Amino acid sequence: MTENGSGWLEEAPDDLEHHRFAYRKILFSGRTRYQSVTIVDSAKLGKILVMDGAVQSSQEDEFIYHESLIHPGMITLPDPRRVLIIGGGEGASLREVLRYPSVESVTMVDLDSEVIELAKLHLKEWHRGAFDDPRTKLVFGDGRRFLESTPERYDVAVVDVTDCFEEGPARALFTQEFYRTAKDRLTADGLLIVQGLALGPRDYREHAVLHRTLASVFPVVRSYNTFVPSFWSEWGFLIASKKHDPAVLSPEEVAARLKRRLGDAPHPVYGPLRYYGPRAHQKLFLLPEMLTELIQKNGYVLKDAESGTGVLPTT
Ligand code: SAM
Repeated sequence: MTENGSGWLEEAPDDLEHHRFAYRKILFSGRTRYQSVTIVDSAKLGKILVMDGAVQSSQEDEFIYHESLIHPGMITLPDPRRVLIIGGGEGASLREVLRYPSVESVTMVDLDSEVIELAKLHLKEWHRGAFDDPRTKLVFGDGRRFLESTPERYDVAVVDVTDCFEEGPARALFTQEFYRTAKDRLTADGLLIVQGLALGPRDYREHAVLHRTLASVFPVVRSYNTFVPSFWSEWGFLIASKKHDPAVLSPEEVAARLKRRLGDAPHPVYGPLRYYGPRAHQKLFLLPEMLTELIQKNGYVLKDAESGTGVLPTT
């Protein structure tokens, strides 16, 4: 760090790769009860949120990640009214769900109340007031425990947690046992959306394990992907559904649904969609051949007993 507070933020996804972002100012750097959090004002990407050393999102391109995470699933269901978000600290997944007037309530369960306080203070460009929407219910606690004990049923559940299999509070949210609980807490034609980790060629096997684990519980599972510049990587997502298939929607159908549900005018507070639309929907579900082949193979399924043992098996 220099005298005027500027410097370089370094992110190290693993020992073989480091990313550096020039920043003008550190807005916060410290530890909450659960994780380390840094928020910088970067020269290129605006504000960047980093947790446990990994970039979570940047002001410049968070819309790519959050619109891709939320809208393909929301558009797939006829009339989603009750939504659950597990994680999602910045409030941007919440913002995207709240665009839909059909949504009556969104319960957001995040482990870490300090992250939400930091988001309210420093990440207004992300949540844009979504925490204050009367339909928002904030719960602080572990997402899995919440789902195991809630009597509620949801049309859509979203898992938007820190991507960490090896260590950290999110690892129990990627197992077959957890997905069984999630399926049970969904309404008859409900669906689960899961952020599906980095998706460079080295990650295909890991993503295939996730896909297979979901497919061992849900009848319809679709992987999709897009490039997120601040992650320096293609990023994966999954929709696991009891009935409806997101991948069969034509551009015309997506356009008609968007018009019917969100109207023609940009949202008065959140503005227009900037990434997701009828054409983006088609593009998101196009997968590399090698990934498709791996997904179709039989192999390992992630279970509770193995979820804390380190890097995922690669078969
Ligand atoms: N979009 C992000 C990414 O790049 O992976 C995720 C962002 S969001 C900041 C992740 C949130 O997940 C954090 O606020 C963290 O507190 C929350 N989280 C982690 N483990 C959790 C758990 N077991 N239950 C609920 N929330 C959890």
